[in-house]
Amino acid sequence: MSRIANRSIYTGSNGAFEMDHFWTPWRYTYITTAETAVRPGVPAALAAWEGDLGCVFCNLMASIDNAIATGMNAEKAEAAGGLVLRAKHCFICLNAFPYTSGHVMAMPYAHLDRLAALPEETAHELMDLAQLTERALERIYTPHGFNFGMNVGQAAGAGVAGHVHLHAMPRWVGDTSFMTTVAETRVLPENLETTWKRMREVFAELIIS
Ligand SMILES: [Zn+2]
Repeated sequence: MSRIANRSIYTGSNGAFEMDHFWTPWRYTYITTAETAVRPGVPAALAAWEGDLGCVFCNLMASIDNAIATGMNAEKAEAAGGLVLRAKHCFICLNAFPYTSGHVMAMPYAHLDRLAALPEETAHELMDLAQLTERALERIYTPHGFNFGMNVGQAAGAGVAGHVHLHAMPRWVGDTSFMTTVAETRVLPENLETTWKRMREVFAELIIS
């Protein structure tokens, strides 16, 4: 079943903006769980962690790890945080306000604000995860194409400028014309829980195979 998502990712709706959005959709996506988060990046289900590292991504990981360390089932904690995959230096999580179903982000655990600041192994692993993500999205959504995008620095449109992250999403021919038609309403074919389950399964299959 489709569901209508009214959480707007727009800051405007004139034609020029739509066209800009068409080319660089990741620039206009919110990354925080602003509506339900108890602190930036901390999902309500993981609120037992009382810290605040001043970064949505660092807070997200800390709240998940704290939940697991204090006895919550790891699958449950990672599902609550939308954490799809832990690699050695980087991880993949869902975007809580997806532009399309399957919109994920890959990033280092380290709180670094420049791509060039990433240690070599971390930077290489980030690209490995981008390739893995492309394969996963292909398998799950059979899209016509993909967007991979990274904004480095606030001036470049980064929602979380202190912690570099790579957006990835599947795209279909015609999805943008639909976006233009319906303006600030998006139709998402699946909810985040479903996306998480599908991603989790497929990433696990890809890593094993
Ligand atoms: Zn951070």
